[in-house]
Amino acid sequence: MLRVHQSSLQVLLGAATLEVPLSRVKWSERTRYGRRSAHLPDQAVLQCDDPVAWDAWRQAHGITDPAIVAIQQSWAWAIGFAIGLVLLLAAAYQWGLPALAKGMVAITPYSMDDKFGNLVLARIDEELVQPSEIPSAKQDAIRLAFEQALAVQKPTELTPWRLEFRKWKLGPNAFALPGGTVVLTDDMVDLVEGDTRVLVAVLGHELGHLHHRHGMRVLVTVSAIGVVTSVLWGDFSWALATVPTWLAKADYSRNAEREADAYALDVLNAAGIPPSAMVTLFDKLKAKREAESKKGRAKDKENGTRDKEGGADHWLAIAFSSHPGDAERIAFFQGGARK
Ligand SMILES: [Zn+2]
Repeated sequence: MLRVHQSSLQVLLGAATLEVPLSRVKWSERTRYGRRSAHLPDQAVLQCDDPVAWDAWRQAHGITDPAIVAIQQSWAWAIGFAIGLVLLLAAAYQWGLPALAKGMVAITPYSMDDKFGNLVLARIDEELVQPSEIPSAKQDAIRLAFEQALAVQKPTELTPWRLEFRKWKLGPNAFALPGGTVVLTDDMVDLVEGDTRVLVAVLGHELGHLHHRHGMRVLVTVSAIGVVTSVLWGDFSWALATVPTWLAKADYSRNAEREADAYALDVLNAAGIPPSAMVTLFDKLKAKREAESKKGRAKDKENGTRDKEGGADHWLAIAFSSHPGDAERIAFFQGGARK
């Protein structure tokens, strides 16, 4: 038998009485169902199989639950916490992650970029691209044009780079890998008919990504998301598989694209190339996109199907589902000539 007397709990066992100060009794958390218990000092435990009677008895003696129990059993609180958690995760994704990535990259030694970039290039060579079919003389001419465009920059401000050519079936593309490798696809060179001024604009943009180490930020971001999902799902393989594709698709944030564009503009201005060279690229990409989607629609009509892989936006890499709107960028380069 239990009795509350002043500030003590009395346990009556036949003729014997055990008395414990109420402050030293630990009551088990009230759950919706199940046995109730109270822990006394010296590891003694009282248990009761009738939760309704137990709860009523406690309430009658003014022994209340801690606030957390009331919160746990309230739908309003549960929904409130769920919404709060979603908002917290969204804020962490929107602001926390970019800040974390920037900070992490700032303290990462540059030699890591090199190692990581080489790994990614090996993976891309294995899975995404084939050797280029651009004659080496033409490749060298493009390299030289970019070198000359950069020759007027202060050497101390130059980011190391190395230009590679590859063929890939997804169309015109250019991307930069951490450590300094810039890849131009054959279709990109063909699209602009080898016009080196346009290619310098493209390469300037990619060098901007390298200068700001955007690729490393993607790595940190993907890793952080990967760690969270891996902890949730217990699978670490997808992060490794995702990074190369992500970089090849140049899936940076809009902000990163603006920084790369600003860098390209500086390169063009310093080299005396009209910034409208970049606008030429946008025009050609747009024309190609429209031609592709026309072709795609005709094909759909023919087959009565939709070809998802061949979608018009599929190959847009430098220009850009994630990139700031084309109109904004065109205006940026049109208005960007140095006064
Ligand atoms: Zn970009």
